Amino acid sequence: MSFIESFTLALALLYAISLMFYSGKRWGALTSLSLLGAGMIATLYWPMLLATALVAIGLGLAKRLAPNLFSPEIKANTIRELIHHTLAVSMLLVAVQFTCNAIMLKMGQTPWLMRPDVGDAFLPIDGGIELKAIITLGYWDQTHPAAAVMLAVVMLTGLLCKRAFCGWACPLGLAGEYLYKLRKRFIKRDLLPPAWLDWPLRMLKYLLLLALLYIIIAGMPSQAIPSYLNGNYHKIADLKMALFFITPGLITLLCFAVILALAAWRRQGFCRYICPYGALLGILSFLSPLKIRRHTEHCLIDSKGMKCDKCTRACPANIKVHQQINIRSDECQACMRCINACPKKASLTFSTRNGWQMSATGLAITLLILLFAIPLLAYLNGFWVSQTPDDIRMYLIQHLNAIGH
Ligand code: SF4
Ligand code: SF4
Repeated sequence: MSFIESFTLALALLYAISLMFYSGKRWGALTSLSLLGAGMIATLYWPMLLATALVAIGLGLAKRLAPNLFSPEIKANTIRELIHHTLAVSMLLVAVQFTCNAIMLKMGQTPWLMRPDVGDAFLPIDGGIELKAIITLGYWDQTHPAAAVMLAVVMLTGLLCKRAFCGWACPLGLAGEYLYKLRKRFIKRDLLPPAWLDWPLRMLKYLLLLALLYIIIAGMPSQAIPSYLNGNYHKIADLKMALFFITPGLITLLCFAVILALAAWRRQGFCRYICPYGALLGILSFLSPLKIRRHTEHCLIDSKGMKCDKCTRACPANIKVHQQINIRSDECQACMRCINACPKKASLTFSTRNGWQMSATGLAITLLILLFAIPLLAYLNGFWVSQTPDDIRMYLIQHLNAIGH
């Protein structure tokens, strides 16, 4: 595990534990801290121990300078943006490290920057094939194990807390948000498609997901999986992806342009229309017990007969929150902007059908634990770091054109 991975992991888990502690869940926090400490000691991996020490000092300072970041009353928008930006910066550093590693291998140099395994999260098809191998054959891939771990973790977030991964963690979603804001500075008007066009456009991402699922489920019979996972094509999948982004062809550049234009044209345009990950999480989100729920006994519209649509106006997914009771939409990213905007505190909750509520702090803790504790467990059990040595990767990247499926 690289230093950036170790640092992000320690930061996420220690911040989640601090939030737990200051929210009054002291036993939970102490138990989690003990487990984390035991895990760290079990590894005796100095970058992780150093990263944890630095994070502990940093969080101690942050608690003194900005105590509201640790308060259970912290606003949903503040904590979401804090987490989203921190994870995006971390992913950017990971991408730079990943790219440098790939370039050094391509140039025939032994890389002095190690490969961050979390980069395998960008291999969702390989992750899907690996999960299929685990489920159908009990076969655990050792080439890109992090791909399976990250795909499983992201799917779990969808099952438990809707598309919170999109709204709180995805770096592409955040980049799209900035592109949209930039476009709004120059062109104020929103040109939204009519509802009859919006729906088929939203289905595009499900078609892309279907195509990917077809490759994983029908295109790769279980018996063929072990030879694929042991083959050179799989070994080089991450480097092929890196080179795809470093040296894009004309078609790739055109695809990028379309994606950027989409994100700038409409808020969450990429997530809404194209992203197959968003489609997967959208489907899983229907099973999530937690949903945004409007309580009419508190809402100004029903309880006071007043006009109010602040929740709807705050919603980046254009969901008519003020006209619904339970938000089941597959576009809801659990961003909690609607809750943040609502003038009547108890009107909107992120809760289960029987009334159990999850606050913004609770959602932050859940997401950080899911996204980082499971990879840490995988790492401790030897299912995170790729077992393909650098010299093989270097040989393969030099002979890329000769490698087929
Ligand atoms: S309904 Fe609320 S939580 Fe869902 S996307 Fe809209 S603002 Fe965010
Ligand atoms: S912002 Fe709050 S009070 Fe206003 S319509 Fe939405 S839920 Fe009701």
